[in-house]
Amino acid sequence: MKQIIAIVLLIAAIVGLVAFSFTIKQVDQEEKRLSVDLQHRSTLLAESLRETVEPNFINKSDEYLQTVVEKFANRERLAGLAIYDNKGKVIAVSSNLPKDNSDSQKIVADAMDGDNANGDFVKLEENKMYVFAVPLHDKTSVVGSLIVVQNARYIDTRLQEIWKNNLLRLFLQILLLSIAAILFLRWIIFRPMHNLVESLKLSRSGNKSPNIPNSPFFQPLVKEITNMNRSLIQAQLAASEEARLSLEKIDSPWTAERLKQFVKDILKGRTIIVVSNREPYIHTKNGNKIDYFFPASGMVTAIEPVMQATGGTWIAHGSGDADKLVVDENNSIQVPPDDPKYTLKRVWLTEEEEKGYYYGFSNEALYPLCLNAHTRPIFSQEDYDEYKKVNAKFAKTVLSEIKNLKKPIVCIQDFHFALLPRMIKNARPDATIGLFWHVPWVSPESFSICPWKKELLDGMLGADLIGFHTQLHCNNFIETVGRELESLIDFEQFTVTRGEHISLIKPFPISIAFSNHEEKPDDEQLEIEKKKLLKNLGIEVKYIGIGVDRLDYTKGILERIKAIELFLKKYTEYRGEFTFIQIAPPSKSKIKKYQEFAQAVEKEVERVNLLYKIKNWKPIVLIKKLHTHKELNQYYKLANVCLVTSLHDGMNLVAKEFAAARSDEKGVLILSQFTGASKEFKDALIVNPYSGEQTSEAIYTALIMPLSEQTKRMKKLRNSVKNHNIYRWSAEFLKTMVSLG
Ligand code: UDP
Repeated sequence: MKQIIAIVLLIAAIVGLVAFSFTIKQVDQEEKRLSVDLQHRSTLLAESLRETVEPNFINKSDEYLQTVVEKFANRERLAGLAIYDNKGKVIAVSSNLPKDNSDSQKIVADAMDGDNANGDFVKLEENKMYVFAVPLHDKTSVVGSLIVVQNARYIDTRLQEIWKNNLLRLFLQILLLSIAAILFLRWIIFRPMHNLVESLKLSRSGNKSPNIPNSPFFQPLVKEITNMNRSLIQAQLAASEEARLSLEKIDSPWTAERLKQFVKDILKGRTIIVVSNREPYIHTKNGNKIDYFFPASGMVTAIEPVMQATGGTWIAHGSGDADKLVVDENNSIQVPPDDPKYTLKRVWLTEEEEKGYYYGFSNEALYPLCLNAHTRPIFSQEDYDEYKKVNAKFAKTVLSEIKNLKKPIVCIQDFHFALLPRMIKNARPDATIGLFWHVPWVSPESFSICPWKKELLDGMLGADLIGFHTQLHCNNFIETVGRELESLIDFEQFTVTRGEHISLIKPFPISIAFSNHEEKPDDEQLEIEKKKLLKNLGIEVKYIGIGVDRLDYTKGILERIKAIELFLKKYTEYRGEFTFIQIAPPSKSKIKKYQEFAQAVEKEVERVNLLYKIKNWKPIVLIKKLHTHKELNQYYKLANVCLVTSLHDGMNLVAKEFAAARSDEKGVLILSQFTGASKEFKDALIVNPYSGEQTSEAIYTALIMPLSEQTKRMKKLRNSVKNHNIYRWSAEFLKTMVSLG
């Protein structure tokens, strides 16, 4: 629409300018024409009167002269006549001539002095007049002058009329041209262009061949696009073929294409439904515009590439303030918004439901209970009631979505939906249900404090497959079930049978999409980018540390800051040489505990900065802003050391992202022993985050580590992510689910 308005304004400006210049010219010509005509008429009248007046003037017959001027002064447009003697004194004057005629006297004087007719436009009593004077003679000399005064106001009136008519015509022209331009642009250009873009998008995702609009403007494109489309289809077929072949090569890396092919082969037409609390794309209002962003969440980072590869429907809470404005009548939208690959269906929650289910039971009870980071869970009956209500609401949505599907595959994500598997299973026993628990599972003793432990465990056991990140979490879960519920546990198969139903418990260490195609970067280029980014932050040091976490008390951010303090206290030579950048986007900031935590982090950063800062240097730069993955990658690439010091973490994807970003095979990862990632990442420097001394020593070890050692370790970390990427994770999870039903 903006472009249409701009084009219409441009047309209006051009048409206006042209019409304006023509009007000026027309007015000028008309003014000249009318003036010449008036002068001509005045000359004729003055000359004819002179012949009558001159003999009488010589005879000094004043009365006769007065009669003559009165008689002639009655003509149309004639404002009056007057006769002067050669001293400039009035001898006869018509009664209708305006009294204020000082300007006329000058014209009279000039005519007599030069013995020549003389005329000009003057203002008499506010009216525009034309005064024309001719000298009167006796036999030898000039004896006086006759003036003819013509009314010239009609010239201005005529010119104004021209302006008025032309402006009206201009307005009508602009209006009609604008309407024509809008219709033309909208229907002949923009609409077919929009259809063309949509059609190309569909064609790119392999859904159908492009439907080129039947518009003469696009005909030259048809041949080119048809050729491009043919090449695209061939490339897609080649990629599918390659993926099919690589399925047989068990050790070749998993890719999105390979997963797509694999899923097609094993699902045989069955549809995948993913359910999570957090949605992958959140739409928000930004003035008159609607923007969207990708939230900071390990779960979303992991599941999104899978959905992009497999398609299907992702059901999640619509939490953005513009979410409702962009969905269709089924509360759905195709995503990613710029390149649709699957359906996002949004579930709406009331403020009360969100407060009790999300902020309350999920984040103040279950989260601290499972994360076990020494924050006391708050158990409230009211919150739990909302949690049950919202689980039932999601169950209703899932059931309506799978109503017409045979043996659907439902993948439920995380601790927000412990009750959902049972609810779906009871209504649709033919559905294969998987539950993936993204946070740790604690020991039976720790879990036993939950007042609704039995209901929650029973709800989870509605799933056919329950996945955790590590074997330890699986063991803890099975032991908890053994202690709390009547069931049959098979420790060999790792299954729980409750009633007639069997649930398999299995570890699936989650991961990220790893780019297999990233080339080793150019060192010089890296150095330029690093300098640019640091310059923008006002940092000028030799060594950089990086931390990337949601502002969450489980991430060990305070402990990390303490470790940096201890490091700079002991290794004073690094003051002014090492800066730690902590990226910490706000998280769950409606919860008091999180607000207090955010304040505590800020205070602690300030304290350590005050303690050591010198001139233009400070030890810690805290950036409390959500970054895109692309932005984060830049930081990962420039850091000498990355600190992941969670007090407890299911997996921790930042650790994997750091390794994936380091195609230069440099940099050191310091990793908490209480993360799931530490089970795979033996080549990180593993620390107990509760010990500031241990972490500070690890920082020192990292900064003095020889490049060859860094590369040796980084290669192994990267191989681990490459071989166990998110595509492999999903393939294994889905393969297990399909094998169960
Ligand atoms: N993240 C992000 N922008 C930020 C900070 C973090 O996109 O500004 C992402 C980060 O890249 C990672 C995820 O949030 O993919 C965090 O996942 P992790 O498993 O480390 O922790 P979680 O938040 O799931 O507890």
